[in-house]
Amino acid sequence: MISFELTEEQRMLREMAHDFAANEIVPVAAHYDETAEFPWEIIKKAREVGLINTNIPAEYGGGGLHAFDEILIGEELAWGCTGISTSLLINNLAAIPIIVAGSDEQKRKWLGAMVDGALASYAVTEPGAGSDVAGIQTTARKVGNEYVLNGTKTFISNASVCDFCVVFAYTDKAQRYMGMSCFVVERDREGFTVSKKFDKMGQRASDTAEISLNEVVVPEENRIGPEGAGFLIAMRVFDFSRPGVAAAAVGLARRAMEEAVAYAAEREAFGQPIYKFQAIGHKIADMAMQIEAARLLAWRAAWLIDQGRPNTMFASFAKAFAADMAMKVTTDAVQVFGGYGYMREYPVEKLMRDCKVFQIYEGTSEIQRNIIVRELFKKQ
Ligand SMILES: Cc1cc2nc3c(=O)[nH]c(=O)nc-3n(C[C@H](O)[C@H](O)[C@H](O)COP(=O)(O)OP(=O)(O)OC[C@H]3O[C@@H](n4cnc5c(N)ncnc54)[C@H](O)[C@@H]3O)c2cc1C
Repeated sequence: MISFELTEEQRMLREMAHDFAANEIVPVAAHYDETAEFPWEIIKKAREVGLINTNIPAEYGGGGLHAFDEILIGEELAWGCTGISTSLLINNLAAIPIIVAGSDEQKRKWLGAMVDGALASYAVTEPGAGSDVAGIQTTARKVGNEYVLNGTKTFISNASVCDFCVVFAYTDKAQRYMGMSCFVVERDREGFTVSKKFDKMGQRASDTAEISLNEVVVPEENRIGPEGAGFLIAMRVFDFSRPGVAAAAVGLARRAMEEAVAYAAEREAFGQPIYKFQAIGHKIADMAMQIEAARLLAWRAAWLIDQGRPNTMFASFAKAFAADMAMKVTTDAVQVFGGYGYMREYPVEKLMRDCKVFQIYEGTSEIQRNIIVRELFKKQ
C-alpha cells in the first residue's frame, strides 16, 4: 500500500527542524552570507537539539535516523539557508563511509568522536579530478603497518574546521577502480595542511577549502574497509547522500517560491497585484508543481535506501531534477521581484547564488544523466 502520510514522529521531527530554521538560521543567514564566517554558534545550537549527526546509529550515540527522516530535516534546514545547512550536514556525509564500511571499533572511535563534538570532512575531489573519481592522484603507500599519504584534495566542505577527514587515495594505482582505498586522516597529523580557503558565489556560510597531504602517516587502523574498496565505498556514499542533496534543493526552491508568492501578492503594476498577470502567475504555478515533483523523487530515493533496495538511478533522478528545478525556480523568483530581485537587500538573489552549486557538487547534473543512461542501458 502506498501512503504519502508522514507518521506523527516524522511530522514532529519536521516541525522541530522548521522551527530551528525559522528561529535560529533565517535571522542570521544574511550575516553569514555577507561575512562568510563559519556558523559555529548555529552548529552549537543544532548540537544541543540533536540536529547534527542524525544518521549516526543510536548505538554509537547518534540520532539513528533513517534516510527518509533525515531528508525531512534537510529540506527544512535548507529552507533556512543552504550555506548553513551544508555546514550542519557535512558530518552526516563524512559518517557514511564509516557507517557502511567501518568495523565496530572504527565506528565507536570515529562516529563516537563526532557525537562528542568533532567535525569531519569528506575528501574525494582533487584539482585535476572531480567528476572522474578514478582520476584522482592521491596515493597511500604501505610501509609496515602504516600508510603514507601524499596528494591534494580541493573544494572540501568544512576542511578548515574539521578535526578529521575521510580521504580517498590509491593504494595501488595500476588497479584503477579496484586500487583505491579509504582512510580517516586526523587534522593534527604532521603533513596535513589546509592550503587554501575559497571565496564563493553562494553558500558562503559553508567552509570550502583545499587540503594538502605531504607524507602524512596514518596507522593501518585508519583504513576504512578493505584495501581496494575505496571506489565502491565512494559510490555507495552517493546512494545515501544524493537524496539529501535533492531535498536541500527542494527546501531552497520552496523558500524562493514562498518569497515570490508573498511579493507577487503585494506588488502592484498597472493597477493590480502582479500575480494576476498570467505570465507571473504561471511562473509561480510552475514553481509549485516542480517543487512537489522534486520532493516526491527525493522521498522515493530515500525510501528505497531505507528498504535496503538499489536506489542509484532514483538518487540520480532526484539529485539532477531537484538541482535543475531549483535553479529555474530561483532564477524565476528573481524575475518575479523585477529590479528588487537583483538587489542584495531582498532575499531572492542570495537564493539564486546559493542554488547554483546544487548542479555541481555531489555529482554534476551532467554526471547524474550519465548514470541514468548507464542504468537504463545496463541490460542491453
Ligand atoms: C561548494 C563546493 C563544495 C564541495 N564540497 C566537496 C566535498 O566536501 N568533498 C569533495 O570531495 N568534493 C566537494 N566538491 C567538489 C565537487 O563534488 C566537484 O566540483 C564536482 O564533482 C565536479 O568536479 P569538477 O569541479 O572537477 O568538475 P569537472 O569534473 O572538471 O567537470 C567540469 C564540467 O564538465 C562536465 N563533465 C565532466 N565529465 C563529464 C562527463 N563524463 N560527461 C558529461 N559532462 C562531464 C561536468 O558536468 C562539468 O560541467 C565541492 C564543490 C563545491 C563547488
